[in-house]
Amino acid sequence: MSRTGLWDSHGHLDDEAFDADREELIAQLEQTLDGIVNPGCDEESSAKAVALAEKHPFIYAAVGYHPENLKGIADNYLEQLAAWAQHPKVVAIGEIGLDYYWKENEPREVQKRIFCEQVDLAKQFDLPIIIHDRDAHGDMLELFQKEITGVQAVFHCFSGSLEMAKELAKRGYYFGFGGTSTYKNAQKVREVMQYIPKELLLFETDCPYLTPVPFRGKRNNPGYVEYTARNAAEVLGMEFEELAALATANTKRLFKKIK
Ligand SMILES: [Zn+2]
Repeated sequence: MSRTGLWDSHGHLDDEAFDADREELIAQLEQTLDGIVNPGCDEESSAKAVALAEKHPFIYAAVGYHPENLKGIADNYLEQLAAWAQHPKVVAIGEIGLDYYWKENEPREVQKRIFCEQVDLAKQFDLPIIIHDRDAHGDMLELFQKEITGVQAVFHCFSGSLEMAKELAKRGYYFGFGGTSTYKNAQKVREVMQYIPKELLLFETDCPYLTPVPFRGKRNNPGYVEYTARNAAEVLGMEFEELAALATANTKRLFKKIK
């Protein structure tokens, strides 16, 4: 294992999938990666992300409520997020967004309201947002065309159309590419990767899910970001080292509190 210079810009190391070997894994990752951003998905996972970031210099946290976790959300949830937002190692609000895939999620209007409240909070603390958009591309794009301005954002594991990507790239938003970009049937994702300006590209794992080829089906971990980046270098016809340095610079530009 050698240093890659890469960041995993979106990895859920707080997930219970890592309970058995988290500290061993982190010790290994510290030898190969330059850093990890661990987003939270509710109060508990955000707290865990902050605790991991406090313990490990190369791990940073984001805090927020994922659209799958809005049931029973506390009335004062924004106060807790505001307190975390001022923490030196909390670099973004996320992951937040819209998820119309799961029928048991809160109604669309509730999801939009809580998403927009968290976007406002991010603006208040001058933090970027990490966006989850699943089967909600139309509403998400409309929000960014009509309502949301003045905040920087990354569309994590982007799965929208090339047309949507063009609209977002025009506004300077970032795109996170993970394991799905290595899948055979993900031609659309690779087209987006080829289209967007290289300064808007980030790499991520979304571990423990969405494991890249050749480990698809196994537990994902932040170290596998290298396989996604090597695949992307091939797709883009670039040297791996050059692309890794570029993606790392992009990650630090977006998450500007990273030291
Ligand atoms: Zn995620």
